[in-house]
Amino acid sequence: METLLRPLLHVENLEVEFATDRGVVKAVDGVSLRVGRGETVGLVGESGAGKSVLGRSIMQLVSHPGRIRGGNIFWQGEDILRRSDAGMRELRSDAIAMVFQDPMTALNPLKKIKDQLLEAVLLHRDVSGPEARETVLKRLRDVELPQPELTMENYPHQLSGGMRQRVVIALALVNDPQLVIADEPTTSLDVTIQAQILKLLKDLQRENDLSIIMITHNMAVVAETCSRVNVMYAGRIVESSGTAALFERPAHPYTRALLRSVIRLDDDVRRLDTIPGLMPDLIDVPAGCAFHPRCPEAFSRCDRAKPALTELAESRRAACHLVDARGGAD
Ligand code: SF4
Repeated sequence: METLLRPLLHVENLEVEFATDRGVVKAVDGVSLRVGRGETVGLVGESGAGKSVLGRSIMQLVSHPGRIRGGNIFWQGEDILRRSDAGMRELRSDAIAMVFQDPMTALNPLKKIKDQLLEAVLLHRDVSGPEARETVLKRLRDVELPQPELTMENYPHQLSGGMRQRVVIALALVNDPQLVIADEPTTSLDVTIQAQILKLLKDLQRENDLSIIMITHNMAVVAETCSRVNVMYAGRIVESSGTAALFERPAHPYTRALLRSVIRLDDDVRRLDTIPGLMPDLIDVPAGCAFHPRCPEAFSRCDRAKPALTELAESRRAACHLVDARGGAD
């Protein structure tokens, strides 16, 4: 159910751009979304859609030459774009955490697991050494790291990929954040470990009343974890919906194409439809609907006018001229 009361996070009309030698890349182009307490909201789309930049922008971790050009990010009603760097650091350590696809991005290869987690606790909490150690051990048990007392004495490279990702999740949760932005948290793992990590995130969410933004290119991950989903294409949200409704009646042709690209087991035949063509270069986004060069349903209006994100039903929106023409989702 969409968060109609004041949400934990409310991103409003956010614009993020990168100045490059070739021109300005509009990586996020007028995106709005809400995340409620205890909710998992998906951001799904192919590589280059702007999902990760949006996630990093919420954390204000977009580095030069990127900049937030417009819009607002409200955290519990406060516009955090007005916060100082120190204020944002505080928010990142206490309230909002990020889990990256590659655990080695988040972990220092030169420090033992124990030291990295203890440092995170001691930097941000007024606790004694033994209390910090207890907090760290509790989190390592929460993420089901085998033999945590022994394993925490290791360096990251001494652990398997799945164990490293468990450590990264423990690190993200060690100071009890309210929101975790998980950027492709299982993409580098094999299928069995992926399923274990997704289950772990769901269990931790329930136990900690955690909100999650799940960034993924994989519709199966969305189906597994999200209550709401935002489909992104070329820096914009093109469909936003409750997950069940999106899977039952996808309104946007791009969403339908993404769903066809999920591996299915139909009639004993394993089939995977790929979406023809590529995500456009964001310096040179096609006129009209950015998806029109790849869209099997494109018609005359599509290369001329940009479709607005239109309300189809309560909590459902899509940006497609077909939706406008039909007056709602099929
Ligand atoms: Fe396809 Fe046109 Fe809809 Fe874009 S607006 S998704 S090109 S039908």
